[in-house]
Amino acid sequence: MRKKKSKKNKLIFLIILLIIMGLLVYFFAFKKDAKIEIRENVTINQNKKITIKDLVRSIENATIVNGNEEVDTSKIGNINVKIIIKDNYNKDKEYNTKVIVVDGDVPVINFKNKLTTELGVKIDLLDGVSAKDGDDDVKVSVEGEYDFNKSGEYKLYYIAKDDDGNVTKEEFTLIVGEKKQEQKNNSTGVVEHTKEDGEFTTSKGFKGYTKNGITYIDGFLVVNKTYALPSTYAPGLNSDVESKAKVMFDAANKEEGFNIYIVSGFRSYDTQKRLYNNYAARDGASSADVYSARPGHSEHQSGLAFDVCHNGYGCINSTFDNTPPAKWLAKNAYKYGFILRFPKNKTNETGYQYESWHFRYVGVELATKLYNDGNWISLEDYFGITSEYDY
Ligand SMILES: [Zn+2]
Repeated sequence: MRKKKSKKNKLIFLIILLIIMGLLVYFFAFKKDAKIEIRENVTINQNKKITIKDLVRSIENATIVNGNEEVDTSKIGNINVKIIIKDNYNKDKEYNTKVIVVDGDVPVINFKNKLTTELGVKIDLLDGVSAKDGDDDVKVSVEGEYDFNKSGEYKLYYIAKDDDGNVTKEEFTLIVGEKKQEQKNNSTGVVEHTKEDGEFTTSKGFKGYTKNGITYIDGFLVVNKTYALPSTYAPGLNSDVESKAKVMFDAANKEEGFNIYIVSGFRSYDTQKRLYNNYAARDGASSADVYSARPGHSEHQSGLAFDVCHNGYGCINSTFDNTPPAKWLAKNAYKYGFILRFPKNKTNETGYQYESWHFRYVGVELATKLYNDGNWISLEDYFGITSEYDY
């Protein structure tokens, strides 16, 4: 009996000894030094929220003590930020990095360039009109004089002003009068280059049709140098496209800490006309045709395409090419249903030079086909259509 008890005590002692040894090995052999990778010179819009942990790309064997602390982005300029971590030895360590706060972007207004109403019938000029400054909604107001009780064409402006004082002004026309008058106004001055309504088959066997001047191929709205949109077509940026873009940007921002945003979404016929005419006056029409669409031929008028920006990485020009956000988008956009509309070295197919910033929504299925494992196929090549002006 005694012998048995002592044996049991010995066993308990041995187990305790093993546990202590295990703990000692854990503390002295397996404790590792902290490894931390900090993002330098992160550029962020004024008043955008960013926390300390957003500035840490990766961290091992340590925790961030002040991770949830917000960086003060209320003032433009360089902000020095202290990152405090606690390592495995329970020691605090401090790291410094810099955040660059830049002026917010100009608000982008989504609107219709032409509103019509019958004489004496009041309409809300702000109905369906919205403006965004990055992710934030901006209030829109109307500038100019008009009278619902006096027939005529009123040139008015939508004004959007963000908190930083950046102002966007967009012209639109309010037509007050009879319906007959409205049609008359539309047909004067604008030469439409849309296809005649009817059905056709592309060189690659896809069925297409044009209805009310809008062309669809295999069910997809197509606009390029061959296929124009009617001057009155002004749907604004498609809300579904906008929300899907947001999901994509959120993923990019979460994965890579980017701050990608839409800088130009819907563009009306008149806006495109103004843009194109400016470029043509500056560079000549043949040069402008390579990078800017003639009115009616811009995909931006479809409300299904947009240009993106990222502060510090260039904006709607070749400085955006090959930047981390451009690379991410080229690699991942198809997962969200977007295509790089004007891929590299496809000018003879798309009619336009490479645009690393312009994306078009076509849905995940078609986008995956066009992505082609990173070797983008143009929409024109896929459908078997051209992109050439016939005037
Ligand atoms: Zn574009």
